[in-house]
Amino acid sequence: MKRQIKKVAVLGSGVMGAGIAAHLANVGLKVILLDRPIGEASNDRNQLTQSAITELAKQKPSPLYSKTSLERIQIGNFEDDLSLLGQADWIVEAVVEDLSVKRQLLAQVEKHRRPGSVISSNTSGISISKMAAGRSDEFRQHFLGTHFFNPPRYMKLLELIPTTDTSQEIISTMIHFSEFTLGKGVVIAKDTPNFIANRIGVYGLLATLEEMDRYGLSVSDVDQLTGTAIGRPRSATFRALDLVGLDTFLRVAENVREHVTDPLEKAVFTAPKIISSLVAQGHFGEKSGKGFYQKQ
Ligand code: NAD
Repeated sequence: MKRQIKKVAVLGSGVMGAGIAAHLANVGLKVILLDRPIGEASNDRNQLTQSAITELAKQKPSPLYSKTSLERIQIGNFEDDLSLLGQADWIVEAVVEDLSVKRQLLAQVEKHRRPGSVISSNTSGISISKMAAGRSDEFRQHFLGTHFFNPPRYMKLLELIPTTDTSQEIISTMIHFSEFTLGKGVVIAKDTPNFIANRIGVYGLLATLEEMDRYGLSVSDVDQLTGTAIGRPRSATFRALDLVGLDTFLRVAENVREHVTDPLEKAVFTAPKIISSLVAQGHFGEKSGKGFYQKQ
């Protein structure tokens, strides 16, 4: 029988997890949205297991089409509700960009998922194979990268990153499902650091920051020059960085820097101090209320 995906578990309810959950609910799927229990997280924005629903509804533009899509999302936490994973046809991991955190969570997923269910990671660029190392053959055959772009409701691109272990049936199912149910344009990427779009995107952002420094441009100069004036969204450079999350951007740039050998490429993928300094002060961008811009 052809595989059906009707219920999806999303692990992590941060910027991407919440947005992915909303998009899945918008297209009519049932969603289980899990995160760390309240109290474990290090800042308010991520204490989401109870406030995720309110948080989703408050965001502007809203990631949700309607109240009905909101009602399709069931909220829970990693401590009490992992048994719900047994109900999911697809489990998508969207927690912090950190290999060891993702590996630990996937080990938990292995214990609770139903054999045969699809498992994927929304990582921006960590090796999919490394993430699945140590899991069973059956797990690895059902595992791949599903890299959504931010915000998931509006961005059409979805990179699918199979490993050499991912079964052809899973690859074909996910291409078809992503195009026809999720309404995304699919690109198959190799399991290389930051895959395709982020390798180019992060490079573009870092090169812009470098030029800004060289020519003494301000944040608003750059956003004007790289935004609507040239037919790109308002959020072209610094607003995009605030939307992505400066902490996440730093980890994503670092992932490529760590994995390339060419010294020139290493230099290119080194984030400027202004980003690490904002992160050190807890200014992560929109999710913390302040980054390059202050949330109104
Ligand atoms: P975020 O900071 O908004 O959320 C991180 C989530 O991870 C939170 O739900 C948090 O509770 C959870 N988390 C943190 N530490 C944890 C731990 N030790 N154990 C379990 N859970 C933990 O991050 P995000 O932007 O939603 O990113 C999530 C994933 O999506 C990352 O892999 C990121 O690279 C990827 N991604 C991000 C974007 C973007 O624009 N932000 C775009 C595409 C992909």
